[in-house]
Amino acid sequence: MASARPKRPRKRTARRKPKAPPKLISVVIPAYNEEPNLRFIYEYLRVVFDNGNDDAEIVFVDDGSTDNSREILTQLHKHDSRVKAIFLSRNFGQSAALTAGIEAAKGDAIIVMDADGQDPPEVVPDLIAKWKEGYEVVGGKRTSRRGEPVIKRALAFVWYRVMRLLVGWDMPVDTGEFRILDRKVADVFCACPQRHRLVRTLTSWPGFRQTTVDYDHAPRHAGKSKYTTGSSFRLALTSITGFSLAPLRIAFAVGIAVIFCALFACAWILISGARDTVNLIALAVAGLWLLGGIQCVLIGIIGEYVGRNYIETQRRPLYVVRDTVGINRK
Ligand code: UDP
Ligand code: MG
Repeated sequence: MASARPKRPRKRTARRKPKAPPKLISVVIPAYNEEPNLRFIYEYLRVVFDNGNDDAEIVFVDDGSTDNSREILTQLHKHDSRVKAIFLSRNFGQSAALTAGIEAAKGDAIIVMDADGQDPPEVVPDLIAKWKEGYEVVGGKRTSRRGEPVIKRALAFVWYRVMRLLVGWDMPVDTGEFRILDRKVADVFCACPQRHRLVRTLTSWPGFRQTTVDYDHAPRHAGKSKYTTGSSFRLALTSITGFSLAPLRIAFAVGIAVIFCALFACAWILISGARDTVNLIALAVAGLWLLGGIQCVLIGIIGEYVGRNYIETQRRPLYVVRDTVGINRK
């Protein structure tokens, strides 16, 4: 009987991982009088995307600049069609400009970054890699803030921690607007109609899978910050009232505490049998001043919310577009 021929072992060929199809990555950059930074940030991003596998579009939002930004952005678009620009009719502020850019972006993922080079483009591949791992929001976490005044750094440190405590959802600390958003998250962000909108807060609110990538927040490439310490402080305060009712609850608690103090003072006057009229009048006047001050603060807090509500009910558009280059407007 013929013995069965031993089967020849099949030649093993290394199984090649199918190459993932390229994704479209949008980079949204708000720019207000950033003339000396526009070419710099573009060149930097061009190198990053020329060396990557993904398609890109770079959407600059000119937030009512009065310098030469328009000419530079138009030239950049002529030279590279991946560059697009939205020109707003006046200065509407960073958050409104970012909203205009995110609404116009077509990408599967959207990166938000500043025009001044403080968010280094070399971190962009790390953000994209994390997004491809399945995270829907990847924020750049600042491990240092070189070149910023101490008071601004201290304010930022406190603001992130207070906000995290107040908002009631998982908001990572020390992550600015520099981040990548999955299309799903960007759609939720665009669907939120509120006028007081911080990208970092509104994109952490929907949840999804979030993580951070550490980076060194570099000094500005050129020019000055568009925020003074005073305007940063105002922004910090309005963002707290824009996302939390805690100040109203604190106001209520202060009211209760004052009532208890007043009752305690009355009891003390009755029990101690204080009869010194001059001292009692001085105490009453001091008490009135204290109460007047506390009431003004409380009315101010309530007024902040009422004013905010008034502005929201006007339902004016968040920004007005003058014109665009490279963008098909609906
Ligand atoms: N920006 C803007 N509109 C404004 C203020 C700022 O588009 O009214 C842009 C600015 O050009 C920059 C980004 O927002 O690209 C962050 O601003 P800046 O660097 O001045 O803030 P900082 O980093 O000092 O907090
Ligand atoms: Mg900056």
